[in-house]
Amino acid sequence: MINKENLKVSLQQNFGFSEFKKGQEEVIFKIVHGESLCAIFPTGSGKSLCYQLSALHLKGLTLVVSPLLALMKDQVDFLRRKGIPAEVIDSTLTKQEVSKVKEACYIGKVKILMVSVERLKQESFRNFLQTLEISLLVIDEAHCISEWGHNFRPEYIKLPKYQQEFGIKQVLLLTATAPKHVVEDMKEKFDIKYENIINTGFFRENLALIIVPHSEDEKLEALRKILANKSAFPAIVYTTTQKKSEEVASALRSFGIDTNFYHAGLDSKEREMRQNAFMQGEVDVMVATIAFGMGIDKENIRTVVHYDLPKTIENYSQEIGRAGRDSKPSKCYMLGSSGDVETLKNYVYADTPDFSEIHAVLSDIKSSKGSWEFILLRLSKETNMKELVLKTLIVYLELVKIIESSYAYFDEVRFKLLRSEEEILEKFKGERLEFLKSIFHCSSLARTWYTLSSEALYREELDTKRVLIALEYLDGVEDIVLETKNSVDVYKIINPGFDLEVLSEKLFKKFHEKEYFEIARIENMIEFFKSDRCIAMALSEYFSDMLEKSCTMCSVCKGEKTRFERVAHKKEEEYSEILLREFKEMYYKKFSRKPSSRECAKFLCGVTSPHILQMKGKKQEYFGIFEGINFAEIVKKVEE
Ligand code: ADP
Ligand code: MG
Repeated sequence: MINKENLKVSLQQNFGFSEFKKGQEEVIFKIVHGESLCAIFPTGSGKSLCYQLSALHLKGLTLVVSPLLALMKDQVDFLRRKGIPAEVIDSTLTKQEVSKVKEACYIGKVKILMVSVERLKQESFRNFLQTLEISLLVIDEAHCISEWGHNFRPEYIKLPKYQQEFGIKQVLLLTATAPKHVVEDMKEKFDIKYENIINTGFFRENLALIIVPHSEDEKLEALRKILANKSAFPAIVYTTTQKKSEEVASALRSFGIDTNFYHAGLDSKEREMRQNAFMQGEVDVMVATIAFGMGIDKENIRTVVHYDLPKTIENYSQEIGRAGRDSKPSKCYMLGSSGDVETLKNYVYADTPDFSEIHAVLSDIKSSKGSWEFILLRLSKETNMKELVLKTLIVYLELVKIIESSYAYFDEVRFKLLRSEEEILEKFKGERLEFLKSIFHCSSLARTWYTLSSEALYREELDTKRVLIALEYLDGVEDIVLETKNSVDVYKIINPGFDLEVLSEKLFKKFHEKEYFEIARIENMIEFFKSDRCIAMALSEYFSDMLEKSCTMCSVCKGEKTRFERVAHKKEEEYSEILLREFKEMYYKKFSRKPSSRECAKFLCGVTSPHILQMKGKKQEYFGIFEGINFAEIVKKVEE
């Protein structure tokens, strides 16, 4: 049996590291002895090594599921540099490349295989995995599995089911942020023993946590004071909305502070440029929405400010965790006040679907024969459910065994030539040549782009899958540029006999429970910020990590009392029917039906839905007139 001494030798020989980092040895030792574990280590503390080293001492394959493409690539490069046979299967691979990797796995030449969760939606890929001997399933960013986590990815809840299907005995869950209830959830879903939850503690002692709530009109002045001294730079300031990030950035610039802003509304090139400029120290302050986060691994961030309330305690913890990675003293300010609470809650309410919306999806399934097909974006527009909400609903339907994901295809395929048609064709002969010729024949040329006509394919009896494989091949050898649009998801209907009303009601209830939970979570966070206990201690406790003594640096330890009294938002306007007249008219014109009361309330509270976005409701005069007012109160008013 392998002992700890062997493991250390293996660490040196395979990775060139002389010592284990905190927690690694314990985790690896347990894995190679057949246990399933959950490892909770802070970001940057070497979670990946736990599976990388273990994989070398396990008989079969180690399958790693990760939500981030870029990170998977980095890890595979790292492993290959160390001479460890690792592969990644993602959407950038051609069909040929995928088959090569599959083959290598099949004959046992691969130790570590990394895939995205989306790949597991493919029935054929799942069938393939069933043929392999997989020793360990690793789930990176495992908190995504919990509906009660802050970053829930619906696809993740199917992982326990897949573990069984693939006959994998052991799992290793990796995460940096998991509060108690999420840990409970992970533990239960994967049957992990209590003593196999390895938590190395996450609080950095160099962070001073300061909670100083300010009303909206005092915030800017407070921020100016915080950033008055150069020693506060580099700094990140988080705001809730994109608009606010721009406003605050421009205000700071007018004070002479070198500031930029960042949010998901900017295009990806622009975002990358701004991020790089900040990373390289060319700009002192970045005002951003939570979109600014991935890959912000900058050592010397001295200040993180939450201009508004964070979304959850997990978000708060992750965002302050970007400060002071170099262990030097750093400050984290939270300026948000109770005035922001209702706004946060209204985002939650807006995500709960109406009964009729759920009903519409289920009857669509009911009326489909054998299989159910949809384009997510289109279905979202039709049903008025946000994409993430729809994905959640679909996963629920899979879990109750109504449908099962099968495969996806593209409903629009176009390409342009990088060489002449003759040059491309001359490399082929016989049946293949004829096949390619007929593909060109089935495509219509506009100025530079050919569009594949599915009717023509049908007429010529060409197999769509084979056509795509051929085009992907030509794309791979740079004969053409291939573009595919609108992924159509196909699900098998495995229980068409369900009761439409009963199931709609059941799922509707489930979404309501979720809503209830999320609202409670916001309340919880407020209690946390109001608390008169050492903030670092309270935060650690929330993540099941006990600090032995008070931090002595936070605002509570310093004796500053938080003024977190509940100030209701001032209502400038009284509710009247007039506020909704134009909205209702436009809505009716566009969708040929009246908006529901909840839809009206969303409009007035300033939260969007796919329908409100489609009719450009944000531009209307009364959009958001009751921003920050309780949603349920407005729904009631509308119903009266
Ligand atoms: P996490 O996933 O926990 O955020 P990573 O697994 O990406 O962190 O590891 C962070 C860095 O630490 C990587 O560059 C990795 O190579 C390095 N590392 C991991 N284990 C050790 C070790 N025992 N000794 C030295 N460096 C290590
Ligand atoms: Mg990691």
